[in-house]
Amino acid sequence: MRKNINKVNSAKSSSLIKIFVGGFFFACTISVIIDYINGPEGLEDIIIGFVLLLGIGWIVLSGFRQSKLVSNTIKYCNIALNYEKQGKVSINTLANLTKNSEENVIKNFETILNKGYILGTYIDYSTREIVFSENSSKEVYSEYEKVVCSNCGGVNKVQKGKSTECEYCGSIINN
Ligand SMILES: [Zn+2]
Repeated sequence: MRKNINKVNSAKSSSLIKIFVGGFFFACTISVIIDYINGPEGLEDIIIGFVLLLGIGWIVLSGFRQSKLVSNTIKYCNIALNYEKQGKVSINTLANLTKNSEENVIKNFETILNKGYILGTYIDYSTREIVFSENSSKEVYSEYEKVVCSNCGGVNKVQKGKSTECEYCGSIINN
């Protein structure tokens, strides 16, 4: 399971823009509506103001939802780090650790996967687990170690617990 850093970062920025810029226009629209109500403007103008307010309010709300999704993505990824060896984490564990219901965790995960915030993972609905179908780049890297060939002294990258032929002299190297 790995975080799609580019997507998560751009979602983070866009959620903040929606919240702050949207919030600013939301406040402006409210003050305009109050002016309209107190002023000579007719009902039409006030209704248009409210429709505008609803639209801007929806943008702000979607910003909050996006920001929550980003923070959930980060939380899930941090928890998953402790379960990399098992290759999976139960939805029950995620629910307990994030103080959320299992149904919400599933719903969040479905959205996160749809948006591509997390890669190399799928939901196993029958066992109610999040399965890591792909090692994180970090883990893949740590599985390989640099081993010096005893025959020629060449440095080879060898997977832990595996044997390979030295890429320089062809003799067998064990790790
Ligand atoms: Zn060698």
